[in-house]
Amino acid sequence: MTTLAFLGLGAMGDPMAAHLATYARAHGHRVLVWNRTAAKAGAHAATHGTHPATLEEAAAADVIFTCLPTSAEVDEVMHQMRPHLRPGATWVDCTSGHPDAATRQAAELAAHGVTFLDAPVSGGTVGAQQGRLTVMVGGDAAAMDAARPHLAFADKVVHVGGTGAGFAVKAVNNALLGVTLWATGEGLAVLGRAGVNLGAALDVINASSGRSNASENLIPQRVLTREFPPTFALGLLAKDAGIAVDLTQGVQGSAPVIAQVAALLRAAQHVVGPAEDHTAALKLIEAMNAKEIL
Ligand code: NDP
Repeated sequence: MTTLAFLGLGAMGDPMAAHLATYARAHGHRVLVWNRTAAKAGAHAATHGTHPATLEEAAAADVIFTCLPTSAEVDEVMHQMRPHLRPGATWVDCTSGHPDAATRQAAELAAHGVTFLDAPVSGGTVGAQQGRLTVMVGGDAAAMDAARPHLAFADKVVHVGGTGAGFAVKAVNNALLGVTLWATGEGLAVLGRAGVNLGAALDVINASSGRSNASENLIPQRVLTREFPPTFALGLLAKDAGIAVDLTQGVQGSAPVIAQVAALLRAAQHVVGPAEDHTAALKLIEAMNAKEIL
């Protein structure tokens, strides 16, 4: 019997671990779950037939999944689990983490005979609930192939390079989300001040070259409705854009638009609040323009 452990039952981890449980039941595997707030692991077990575990117990699993806010929290649990790890195991980190951390963590785990894959995901909470996430994997391709059957929450799995490449691609993807969200918000605020109906403006933009996921989905569904449903925290998007800036520095690249938007998202996090939905960053644009986007 293969034992799978899932650590971090947040907005993403909870439904991802639920898909793991369905898969494990069909294949005779066992799923251990751990969450900092233990009641969530108990609730997950009651709903999905998983098994709440201590970090020490989870450390003995064949495959360990993590989905925590940042690489810093992964470091914390890894530190506690290291003495109890099982040689031959694979650690699949689905956190949107930092490429530099991946390099260090992979080396630390290798010393215990454990393979690290950075495997962040995209598709949001809806994709997690539907088991249709895209996973971008950095690390050993053969280890990814071996772990692939267990990625029950995934629709698409792409090997993007060596250790850290998965985190790098995720950071750039989310920086692009930040850029399109922010720029579309600016454009709409300006059009609003010009007296243009923003529903009509989006109708045109979404049939034209300015369209994006922000203009087609995020802004109509979350900003114009004033709902800002908290599915992906603004603080996490600001973190991702910051990783893209670190990446730029690390390779001595030049990405001033990403750097600018990372700084704006950080400002929005401070002004609007890190736990607000990422689309609430546009409230800072509204304040800058004395105009609501609606
Ligand atoms: P949530 O805030 O919903 O969940 C965070 C999880 O991490 C919770 O289980 C929380 O436990 C746990 N946690 C927080 N701090 C610690 C700590 N110090 N030690 C141990 N556990 C801790 O985040 P998401 O699920 O939204 O995001 C998880 C990761 O996935 C992030 O890296 C994010 O960037 C990424 N992501 C998020 C997406 C989204 O749409 N939400 C989409 C794609 C990627 P507790 O219950 O105790 O608070």
